Amino acid sequence: MTDSPADDLQPGFRSDVTVELVKHTASDADVLFAARVSTVGEQSLDELGKDPERSKGLINYLMRDRHGSPFEHNSMTFFISAPIFVFREFMRHRVGWSYNEESGRYRELQPVFYVPGESRKLVQQGRPGKYVFVEGTPEQQKLVNHTMEQSYLQAYEAYQEMLAAGVAREVARAVLPVGLFSSMYATCNARSLMHFLGLRTQHELAKVPSFPQREIEMVGEKMEAEWAALMPLTYAAFNANGRVAP
Ligand SMILES: Cc1cc2nc3c(=O)[nH]c(=O)nc-3n(C[C@H](O)[C@H](O)[C@H](O)COP(=O)(O)OP(=O)(O)OC[C@H]3O[C@@H](n4cnc5c(N)ncnc54)[C@H](O)[C@@H]3O)c2cc1C
Repeated sequence: MTDSPADDLQPGFRSDVTVELVKHTASDADVLFAARVSTVGEQSLDELGKDPERSKGLINYLMRDRHGSPFEHNSMTFFISAPIFVFREFMRHRVGWSYNEESGRYRELQPVFYVPGESRKLVQQGRPGKYVFVEGTPEQQKLVNHTMEQSYLQAYEAYQEMLAAGVAREVARAVLPVGLFSSMYATCNARSLMHFLGLRTQHELAKVPSFPQREIEMVGEKMEAEWAALMPLTYAAFNANGRVAP
C-alpha cells in the first residue's frame, strides 16, 4: 500500500489517519488562572506556581462539579488527514470548534483512498443500539479491499475524464466517494475536545459509554495523545471523572 499519490496521480490507498498538532497555547495553568479569578481577581496569575497539590485539587473539583468555562481559555490547532466520511461526522461538533478544509472547487482532488486495515473489524452483529463488531474472514477482507479499490479507481477515472473534457472541478467531483481522503485544520479548546472525546472514543473509564465509528475514533485517539501531553492534570481529571466533559 502506498501512503500518498505519486506526482503522476497514481492512486494511493491508506488504512490510517494523520493528526498533527500544528499550533497550541494550552496548559493546565490556563485553567487555574481562569478559575482563580473567582476568588483572587487579577492576582490569579501570581498564584500559578504555588502549591501544585492545591492546583491539582482545583482542576479535579472543576471537572467533577462541571464548572466548564475555565477549560476554554486555551487553544489547539490540529492538521488532520482522514476520509471524507470521517469529516462528515467530525463537523457535527459545532460548539468550540473552527474548521477549514481543502476545497474540491479550487483544487484538483488527489487520488488517496481509504481501505480498512487488517485490525479493522468488518462485521456488525446484533440489533441497532446493541451491536458489536467482529473480525471479518480473510475472504471478506480480500473482497472489501478489492471491491473498494476497483470502485475508487473507476470513480477517479470518471473524475479525470470530465476534468480533461473541460468540466469544472466542482461539477466533476460529484462522482468521488466518501472514502476519498481530505484534509483540514480543526481548532478547539480543552472543553470542546473533551466533549468530542466523550462521544467519539470508547474507553474503560467512560461513565457514559459511546459507540463511535472506528475511523473517527482513530482521529480522536491521536488528538487525545497530543492533548494529554499538554495538559496532564486536566487530562487526569477528565479520566478520573468518567470522561464526561465539564
Ligand atoms: C455514536 C454516535 C452516533 C451518531 N449517529 C448519528 C446519526 O445517526 N445521525 C445524525 O444526524 N447524527 C448522529 N450523530 C451525531 C450527534 O447527533 C451529534 O450531532 C454529534 O455527536 C455532535 O454532538 P453535540 O451536538 O453534542 O456537539 P456540539 O455541536 O459541539 O454541541 C455541544 C453541546 O452544545 C449544546 N448545543 C449545541 N447546539 C445546540 C442547539 N442547537 N440547541 C441546544 N443545545 C445545543 C449541547 O449541549 C451539545 O451537547 C452521532 C453521534 C455519535 C457520537
